[in-house]
Amino acid sequence: MPIEIQNVHKTFGSFTALKDVNLTIPDGELVALLGPSGSGKTTLLRIIAGLEEPSSGSVSFVGEQLASSKIQNGEVGFVFQHYALFRHMTIAENIAFGLEVRPKKTRPSKKEIQEKITKLLTLIQLEKFHNRYPHELSGGQRQRVALARALAIEPKFLLLDEPFGALDAKVRKELRNWLRRLHDEIHITSVFVTHDQEEALEVSDRIVILNQGQLEQVGSPDEVYNKPKSPFVFHFLGDVNLFHGRIEEGKTKIGNLALDSSEHQNIKESDAVAYVRPYDVEIVREKDQGIAAEIQYIHSTGRNVRVELKRVDTGTLIESVLEQETYKYLNLFPGETVFLRIKKAKVYVEDFSI
Ligand code: ADP
Ligand code: MG
Repeated sequence: MPIEIQNVHKTFGSFTALKDVNLTIPDGELVALLGPSGSGKTTLLRIIAGLEEPSSGSVSFVGEQLASSKIQNGEVGFVFQHYALFRHMTIAENIAFGLEVRPKKTRPSKKEIQEKITKLLTLIQLEKFHNRYPHELSGGQRQRVALARALAIEPKFLLLDEPFGALDAKVRKELRNWLRRLHDEIHITSVFVTHDQEEALEVSDRIVILNQGQLEQVGSPDEVYNKPKSPFVFHFLGDVNLFHGRIEEGKTKIGNLALDSSEHQNIKESDAVAYVRPYDVEIVREKDQGIAAEIQYIHSTGRNVRVELKRVDTGTLIESVLEQETYKYLNLFPGETVFLRIKKAKVYVEDFSI
């Protein structure tokens, strides 16, 4: 079921938490709401759920106004970061809870509930654990139970607010892959709040980036990562180096480098800043072929090598990530002066930089 968010505005007293948010969440997609802490993700999710009223604007699905009665009727499934399972109930009883509390008229039969629980336990790969209690499970397993409990009521859509936020990094990675596979199986329209860029990039079909209550960009992970619309998005989606320079006749000049910037062809002259990912900073030994920089630190991180450098001209710190092979070939040492070249950059006119 698609969700339409139109001109949603939300204020708390004199504070504006959401500004003019327009967004369609297509049927069956897994959408990430991504943004720094305080950017309005939870507020938007609560408004989608009908738990919070927008100050103006509306949320509808298939043209129908979303009323809070929908939540009581079980059309929304929720998973929160700290989703407390009932301690005194087994896993199976926890998952069945939403069905058991229904009024007699709409409650499935004991047998139907049993069948559904078995199916959900298989889906979350905890078939053998149905008789365990929450404290007998790991954090990751408990969160899978929370998800099964939300799904048991067959909601029309699923809302997750930082569902893996409280778990350690390794479990979080496992669970995000698991959520992706689960979604591929059941295709329920889902909105997933996270402040973790990697999580959003890996899991979702579409990413909605929020900054101070406003939508910065909406697109596929590939689009937002490779074609960031603003310096904020570029910054937010990963490590980045900033090189200040000048656009002149379709080229951006940085030190003795001239980057092709055909997208700015119509600008005659302007200050500019090039955003460059660490793996797009190339290190060469040939003098006069790049920007001189002194190696500060070298960290090997398994597959890659991260090199921290300091530009000789400006003193700016630059980070480069190399493959092990390149690193070995270059035979680099701290204290040496090398030369930097830029493989790929996104150039913004200076006024927009942050
Ligand atoms: P996020 O989930 O992205 O971290 P929130 O949506 O929780 O952000 O909050 C966005 C902003 O709105 C924050 O500055 C927060 O302090 C404020 N806010 C959220 N809920 C309330 C509330 N009930 N009363 C006042 N301010 C609130
Ligand atoms: Mg939040």
